[in-house]
This record gives sequence, structure tokens and C-alpha cells, in this order.
Amino acid sequence: MPGPSNPPGRADVVVIGAGVMGASIALELQRSGRSVVVVDKGNAVGGGSTSSSSAVVRFNYSTLAGVVAAWESVQRWADWSGHLGHVDGPLARLVRCPMLFLEPPGFPRSEATSLLAEVGVPFEVLDEHELTRRFPSLDTGRFFPPRRPDDPCFGDPPTGRLDAVLVPGWFHRHPTIATANLNYSTAMEPDGRVVDRYDKVRTVPFGEFVPFRGLLEAVSGTDLPARDVLPGTGPAVLDSSIGRLGVAISWEVFFEHRTRDAAADGAEVLLNPTNGASYWLTVLQSQQVASSRLRALETGRWVLQVAPTGFSAVVDPQGRTVLKVGKPQDDHVRVSATDLAAWYRTDGDPTFAARLDRTIGGLLPGLRWLDRWMTSCVTTYTPTGHPMIDALDDRVFCCIGGNGYAAKCAPALGELAAGILLGNSWPSEVDRDLFRASFAA
Ligand SMILES: Cc1cc2nc3c(=O)[nH]c(=O)nc-3n(C[C@H](O)[C@H](O)[C@H](O)COP(=O)(O)OP(=O)(O)OC[C@H]3O[C@@H](n4cnc5c(N)ncnc54)[C@H](O)[C@@H]3O)c2cc1C
Repeated sequence: MPGPSNPPGRADVVVIGAGVMGASIALELQRSGRSVVVVDKGNAVGGGSTSSSSAVVRFNYSTLAGVVAAWESVQRWADWSGHLGHVDGPLARLVRCPMLFLEPPGFPRSEATSLLAEVGVPFEVLDEHELTRRFPSLDTGRFFPPRRPDDPCFGDPPTGRLDAVLVPGWFHRHPTIATANLNYSTAMEPDGRVVDRYDKVRTVPFGEFVPFRGLLEAVSGTDLPARDVLPGTGPAVLDSSIGRLGVAISWEVFFEHRTRDAAADGAEVLLNPTNGASYWLTVLQSQQVASSRLRALETGRWVLQVAPTGFSAVVDPQGRTVLKVGKPQDDHVRVSATDLAAWYRTDGDPTFAARLDRTIGGLLPGLRWLDRWMTSCVTTYTPTGHPMIDALDDRVFCCIGGNGYAAKCAPALGELAAGILLGNSWPSEVDRDLFRASFAA
């Protein structure tokens, strides 16, 4: 990159890459009194991905580290001039506005909201009625499942409204017991109210809890699940406005007493929410459908087995499978490194762009384009799902954002990276191991 006419012959640190990450690290190093040179193969500072950023700062990450990094960083963005040391000139400005996050079906909302609450990010949960009131231009119709832009139906009008009792399954850490997880189903009314909850009673040994944990941990090291699911004790039913539903969560359907008790307790239909990801392409998937058929026969109830991975099935009270569906769930496009590099050098895909035009035009009739350009965009993920901030050897360090972290979290990540390079201690509230570098061979 064309730089000063007399670049220094020596510097304490050379930062490679003048994107938002490199610039943030350089700033922190310079603050610490080090001399820093930033080199870039391009011809402008921030000319890489940073130049394409939509500059959105959001906090709804699925991990505590993600929420903390974004929330810490926004304090810097808010006082940008102060953060830079009160420099003159036109500066980036933070414009605060609310962000609306629409929940896809089955999304475990508490995973996101509990993290926001833990970090202190303000949020509200709105039901459909409140959404319509506050955002009259928002179409609250049902567009799920998501479609890729090359799907001919991409951008089609909504297929209906969500006017049903939902029974989402939830699996997450216990909010107060550090050693426990929870696995449960809730009944959610069309207006978003959660009206009942059933916690899984028969948990899976070695999958969800470790029998004789104290004894086994001594010999098996870190191979065991870190936390045990706290089992429920209640009857296997959920009450809702459409009646009483019997619930056997995942492998509970193999135990006839769970569904028999549910039927005896008045359940009119039996639900078997499950996720067969651990048993993909094994006979267990078929055995589970067979088990659902037995439960239907024994109780004389319909059984609905629903699995994001594995088989979903509708079984009638005579034990006949009237519907069985199942296929791998994978909306990622996997390409070779060569194809990826070739794509990255293009200006994007005109077919995708035309479809997006059509969609935006449909949503905002009369919109007049002032400018419009295309660029290729690749989202990168690290194996851990977190940025990598690490020493590669005594003199070489890396800081890789990825995972949607980089730009908005750059101030906080820059501080962490500069701290590592300077030998400072890692802040205790951030799990160091999440940020270690690991590269596939
Ligand atoms: C369309 C789009 C929209 C986005 N919207 C948002 C958003 O709303 N909010 C958000 O937070 N993030 C967003 N992002 C992501 C964000 O922009 C990037 O994660 C971030 O800018 C990456 O910063 P970086 O410094 O890591 O990389 P870059 O900005 O790409 O910088 C890397 C630099 O390294 C240089 N370089 C590469 N190789 C070499 C080499 N061998 N020698 C010397 N120099 C080299 C490049 O020239 C480049 O200048 C968006 C990204 C895109 C593409």
C-alpha cells in the first residue's frame, strides 16, 4: 500500500492487514507506546471486507463471548472520538436504533435472551399483536422455511399465518446450576404465551447424564458430557388451548410407561419431539419410528414424531405410519478452496442480485435506486465458532474475526489481541480457550 515516503526501517510490531481488525490492533499497540507499521497489499486502508460492511452493530449472538465482545465494543463506537484519542476530522458515528429479531420456528429464544440479560443488553419480547402495532409495515406472515436466492420461489408472498399451538423443544444450560443442563418442551399459544412446560424425565445415560460421575471422571478424562440434564418429575403432559398433549421427549418414546401414563392422564395425542443427529444414518432412527408405532397401538392415540435430523412421522391409533419424512438437513454449500477463491474474485451472482431486486421492489414499491453494486461475499467460520487470537510462535501472532464477529467487535478484539502480544494477562471474564487458534491440516 502506498505509505509514507520514508517508512521507518524498524518497528516494534508489524501488523499485516489494514482492515478494521488490523487497524484496531495497531491502535491499541500504539497506545501502549510501541512503534507500529501497518502493511497492506491493497491500495487503501479498510479497502478489504471492511469497505463492504453494512456497519450494523448487533448483540444477539449465541455465545456469551460474542455478546460480551459486541457490547463492550459498542461503548467504544458510541464515543468514537474519545476512543481514538479526540482526533479531528470526519469520524464514524454510531446511530442507535432498535433491532428486530424475528424468531424462526423452534428457535430456543431463551438461549439468546438469557445471554442478553446476563450481559445487561436491554431487550423486549414482542408477540405478534404487539409487533403489528409497533411495526405496521412489517409483514408478520409465515415465510418459513428460508429459501436460497436461486430457489424460484424465493421472494414469494407468505404461505400463511402462524396460528397454531407450538410445542418447541429446548435444550440449554440451567440458569442457576452451573453443572446442569435442561431438556424440556413447552406449549406456546398463537399469541406467544407459554402456557405449560414438561421437563424430560427419562434422561439418556452417558448422553445426558453420567451415572457414577465421580468414579468415571477419574478414569475417562474429558470424554464425558460436562453437565448432567436435570430430570423433571412431572406427568408427561402439556395443557394448551387445543387440549391435553402427551409428550415423550426423544428416547422416552422407547419406555411404554411414559406414554401410557400420559394417556391415563388424559392426553389426546402423543408428541415425540426428537433430534436424531447423534444417530444419523444408523438403525436407531428406524427403531424410533417403530417404537412410536408401538406407543400408538398401546394407547390408541395418534403419535406425532418430529425430528430436525432423522425421521418425522405421523402414526395413527392403529399403529400405521401414515406419513414418514426425513432427509439430511444441510443448507450449506460446500466448495473447494479453489472454487471459493474463484468465487471471491467475481462480482457476485447476477441471478441472485436480480431476485433480491425483485424482492426488495415488492416490499418497497416505488423505490428508486440511487446506486447499486454487486460484490462477492464469503462468510468464514473458525472451527470453534469464535475469533482466533493467539500466538503462532514467539514473534508471530494472529487475530482472525470470522463468524460475524470482526467489524462490530473490532475494538474489543483489538484490545484482546494487543494484550496477548504485549504479554498482558487475559481478562478473567472471557474464556481464553474459546479464542485459541486451531487450523485444519
Ligand atoms: C457485504 C458485507 C456486509 C457486512 N456487514 C457487516 C455488518 O453490518 N456488521 C459487521 O460487524 N460486519 C459486517 N461484515 C463483516 C465485516 O465487514 C468483516 O468481518 C470485517 O470488515 C473484516 O475485517 P478484517 O480487518 O478482518 O478484514 P479486511 O477488512 O478484509 O482486511 C484485511 C486486509 O488485509 C489485507 N491483506 C490480505 N492479505 C494480505 C497480505 N498477504 N499481505 C498484506 N495485506 C493483506 C487486505 O488487503 C485487507 O485490507 C460485512 C461484510 C460484508 C462483505
